[in-house]
Amino acid sequence: MPHALATPPAKSPHALPSFLDPEHLGPWGIYLQQVDRVTPYLGSLSRWVETLKRPKRMLIVDVPIELDNGTMAHFEGYRVQHNTSRGPGKGGVRFHQDVTLSEVMALSAWMSVKNAAVSLPFGGAKGGIRVDPKTLSRGELERLTRRYTSEIGIIIGPNKDIPAPDVNTNEQIMAWMMDTYSMNEGATASGVVTGKPIALGGSLGRREATGRGVFTVGQEAAQHIGLDIGRAKIAVQGFGNVGGIAAKLFAQAGATLVAVQDHGGTIYQASGLDVPALLRHVSEHGSVKGFAPAETLPDDRFWGVDCDILIPAALEQQITAANAHQIQARMVIEGANGPTTPEADDILHERGILVVPDVIANAGGVTVSYFEWVQDFSSFFWSEDDINLRLVRIMREAFAAIWQVADEHRVSLRTATFIVACSRILQARELRGLYP
Ligand code: GLU
Repeated sequence: MPHALATPPAKSPHALPSFLDPEHLGPWGIYLQQVDRVTPYLGSLSRWVETLKRPKRMLIVDVPIELDNGTMAHFEGYRVQHNTSRGPGKGGVRFHQDVTLSEVMALSAWMSVKNAAVSLPFGGAKGGIRVDPKTLSRGELERLTRRYTSEIGIIIGPNKDIPAPDVNTNEQIMAWMMDTYSMNEGATASGVVTGKPIALGGSLGRREATGRGVFTVGQEAAQHIGLDIGRAKIAVQGFGNVGGIAAKLFAQAGATLVAVQDHGGTIYQASGLDVPALLRHVSEHGSVKGFAPAETLPDDRFWGVDCDILIPAALEQQITAANAHQIQARMVIEGANGPTTPEADDILHERGILVVPDVIANAGGVTVSYFEWVQDFSSFFWSEDDINLRLVRIMREAFAAIWQVADEHRVSLRTATFIVACSRILQARELRGLYP
């Protein structure tokens, strides 16, 4: 066996740098497999498919800050612009101790696919800092955010690449990013980031948008498979901005939330968890752990709980070949980015479990980010009702088109979403042509 890190021999005239190699495991390798699956359906556009296998631009930055105790600390930051054929780069920034370049590359590519799947005039980008933000004081977090923004300032901008919140980043961090970029430019540029506080040009409905989108596509998919949401049992992994809001909306529609897992543990209540009380508990204690009315389960029991809809809304690679066989649900809705490995995807498909993939299921967040960006440019702000109506319309129409392609080609919803999105990206690529 050659060493896993050895550079394999070049296989094609398009020899790839080692970190782009498809055999490189991890999120980027998973994304490349997804592109390979869709290539046979791209017709003459497949001529351009290499474009999707290489990010357009990748920036790695050193982020030095002074800690409160006077010592210096250095963190590694990234901003990857995967594709800008359909418009400026767009995608979040995550602060997490496990962030790697490979992960940010995959997340940026999934943004390209997601934005094209819901027809937003954006390419795909993503950023991150390899840091555990829980170990930093508020002042340290602000200095980290500002220095990172300055470092990536050479490639972001309201018409170039627009960051937004992702894992462990929030409205306050977006406010610091907007301010830092604006100070460097000498003029307030509210459209440089989305997911800002309302007082700084943020959009009503943005905070709930990803969860609302998950709920909307869940409703649509349930209708197609004859599942009554009002009687459905739900299990959710991750109870933050995505999982918590989605659970709230499903519960309001009559569904029963039976299990939740987060970084603190796994809780279960067959009769149904009280969602508003659980949301309060999480905002006070930081996790679902210790929520009194529920029983605590060992973490590995989460995947096998008796439910109809399973919503992974935490991190990547959670549903794997090791637990996909245990899943009881009829439908998995991917609130997180990349929660299902390709092997697990196949197992779920064979078992007749419908997977609504991340690239459509969690597109609600970036859709309202788009609304925010448009509102910032026109300095005219819409009502929350308007925003939610437009969001639901976009999600429903995109889902219907994807369902039709899945039906037509007899492929999974993931492959169908990739067919729709990659065709749009490569059509733009072909129309624009190569320059110079
Ligand atoms: N981070 C979110 C996502 O993965 C939102 C990105 C955005 O609004 O630009 O879709």
